[in-house]
Amino acid sequence: MHYAIITHWHWDHGDGDGWGRAAGATLIADKLAVQRFTQTIRVVEWGHSFSPVLTKDLPNSVLTGDKLLRFDGETVRIRHYRPGHTDGDLAALFEKTDILQTGDTFWNGMYPFIDYVTGGSIDGAIAAANANIAMVGARTVVIPGHGPVGDRTALVAFRDMLVSVRARVSSLKSQGKSLEEVQAAHPAAAFDVKWGRSVIDGKLFTALVYRGV
Ligand SMILES: [Zn+2]
Repeated sequence: MHYAIITHWHWDHGDGDGWGRAAGATLIADKLAVQRFTQTIRVVEWGHSFSPVLTKDLPNSVLTGDKLLRFDGETVRIRHYRPGHTDGDLAALFEKTDILQTGDTFWNGMYPFIDYVTGGSIDGAIAAANANIAMVGARTVVIPGHGPVGDRTALVAFRDMLVSVRARVSSLKSQGKSLEEVQAAHPAAAFDVKWGRSVIDGKLFTALVYRGV
């Protein structure tokens, strides 16, 4: 028996689903992620519309909550986050080997994308980050959705960055400032050098946070 855990619906994490099904694998995904695979979705920030996946290519083990999978001597603790980075994220802790695969609920050393179009939010992202931290120990290998392999310290730094930028953007927005005014104030400036040099820069990340506070 072969399994694949599909952490969420995004193309860079799910486009191989058809290959997995064709090879006879059981593809595990959250119920809401499976629904997203069947929809036409316009992601504004990427300027792209995603077409529905063929039924034969869809994940075929649909989770409605957390799941414990015992497999080949390993225990896999699958957590679901609604919302997180989207509205149907999974993370998987391999207890024996002490490895956490976070999907896109953790981007190591770079600002994360937050997909509001399909139900993600900054508060969901923070909640997922906290839940990830609670699952791991000092020696756990933490595999992010993007960026280099990390650890608990890197997860904590990610969570702290999310919380800090959220607080700054929320404070400015509560003063009645428009998105453009908040971006002009560079609320994420202290973090841009470390986190803003990849696909999501400080300006876009500020916009993503602004939308959710
Ligand atoms: Zn993603």
